[in-house]
Amino acid sequence: MRENAAPVRPDRSFVLYWMTAQRRLEHNFALDRAIERARALKKPLLVLEALRLDYPWASRRLHRFVVEGMSVQAEHAAPTALSYYPYVERERGEAKGLLRALSANAAAIVTDESPIDFIRRMVEAAAAQLDVQLESVDSNGLLPLGATDRAYPTAHAFRRQLQKTLREHLLAAPTPRPLLRLSLPRLDFDLEAIETRWPRAPLDRTHKWLDELEFERDVSPASLEGGAKQARLRLRRFTEHGLDEYAKKRNQPSDSSTSELSAYLHFGHISAHAILKRVLEREAWDPTRLSAQRNGSREGWWGISAAAEAFLDQLVTWRELGFNFSAHRPNDTDYESLPDWALRTLERHASDARPHLYELSALDSSLTHDPIWNAAQRQLREQGRIPNYLRMLWGKRILEWSHHPRIALSSMIELNNKYALDGRDPNSYSGIFWVLGRYDRAWGPERPIFGTVRYMSSENTRRKLDLRAYLRRWGSEHIEGQVSAGNREKRLRR
Ligand SMILES: Cc1cc2nc3c(=O)[nH]c(=O)nc-3n(C[C@H](O)[C@H](O)[C@H](O)COP(=O)(O)OP(=O)(O)OC[C@H]3O[C@@H](n4cnc5c(N)ncnc54)[C@H](O)[C@@H]3O)c2cc1C
Repeated sequence: MRENAAPVRPDRSFVLYWMTAQRRLEHNFALDRAIERARALKKPLLVLEALRLDYPWASRRLHRFVVEGMSVQAEHAAPTALSYYPYVERERGEAKGLLRALSANAAAIVTDESPIDFIRRMVEAAAAQLDVQLESVDSNGLLPLGATDRAYPTAHAFRRQLQKTLREHLLAAPTPRPLLRLSLPRLDFDLEAIETRWPRAPLDRTHKWLDELEFERDVSPASLEGGAKQARLRLRRFTEHGLDEYAKKRNQPSDSSTSELSAYLHFGHISAHAILKRVLEREAWDPTRLSAQRNGSREGWWGISAAAEAFLDQLVTWRELGFNFSAHRPNDTDYESLPDWALRTLERHASDARPHLYELSALDSSLTHDPIWNAAQRQLREQGRIPNYLRMLWGKRILEWSHHPRIALSSMIELNNKYALDGRDPNSYSGIFWVLGRYDRAWGPERPIFGTVRYMSSENTRRKLDLRAYLRRWGSEHIEGQVSAGNREKRLRR
């Protein structure tokens, strides 16, 4: 997509790929386009991957994950014809002017198209200022964002659309390893003046230098290591040891029951295309196995094992449903974007008595009366994730314990985006809004607080899941060591 009306400048020194969302050097349509541009213009290709200090919910945890990814990219790019420029802001505002300085020497610029609001706004603001053509390219998923023109209200309706249209897009996959034997002129433009003002990120193995940076929110790094290499390893481990049991175990709260790829997908360290390719290769799939069904049914469309079908339904239908909503529904993060039936029923029950009420600080510190919820929140705080099923329960209980669904919404957004490594994603909002009724239907019986929005309880969860190991790891013994009696007093109950 053309982002501005400025021309290509063939007299300038290089083509620039300004990497903002798809932080990887493989399976990436934007990188493919940048290479195509560089070849046509016979120019070197420079990739700028920059990280500011003041992005929404910025923290040491998110920074560390992105910087680990940068180290992998630097290693990957070093022996190739591509020049890679990783930059991490040391003080707020320091990055200002970097893109402009590079663009003054760029023949053309390619960037990532993203439905994530702050990235979209950043690209639009840059486009208006640049005197050289800026194109954004969509490498978010399998179905291009522009292939639909509306937001789909349910997974069923979106799946029907996928069943009608995805086939043709499957053939147009990005190049798996575009840097392999890449032949382009080497960068001979001297970046010294630019790099003196905006020094390359040091990217040593310890990343100790990140300790010097100041963040508004104090969130320590999680143990999950960022980067394309880790993402590939995790994908391999999952397809070899987890996928067969996925349909049966995806709700269970153990480490190996799901892929744990969402953070890598969020930062673009791995692409949906690469995951799909590996799953389909493992299933010895070919396009003739794709069924002609267009009824929106979950089973039997790909023509592969039930476990792989179940996994692809999450990766393709559910993940891309969220991207579709962000791209096509204005104000998709506002409470009012809920379906009418959900708004009506939640409002009708907004003044119902709440047996338990917790403020954000009590939720943040796992200080509720519910040991399962506290454990999930503790894992979120420490590891930056909550397993699939418990994440739904986590949201439902916040709805139950908040003065108003609007307050529940803002608490969920704050806690999820502050701690989750996959937070701030279109699917952060689809998951959080699902808690309040998006993509769902009314369920009886009508209950206090929830109305006809789907209800979930910790008692049922305890019956449904084997939580013993989970609670041993994240449960109350864990809390005793960490939370002082004084903090417990802050618990707000009514
Ligand atoms: C309250 C709440 C908040 C959530 N916040 C986020 C978030 O911040 N970021 C995020 O990516 N997902 C979010 N989800 C959706 C889902 O919980 C995670 O995608 C999933 O737990 C990630 O774990 P995994 O990678 O092991 O998933 P797997 O089960 O291995 O699934 C593979 C991939 O499919 C996609 N996927 C799986 N489940 C869903 C789903 N329900 N909706 C959309 N995509 C899905 C993800 O990209 C995931 O990586 C949220 C759900 C809820 C209920």
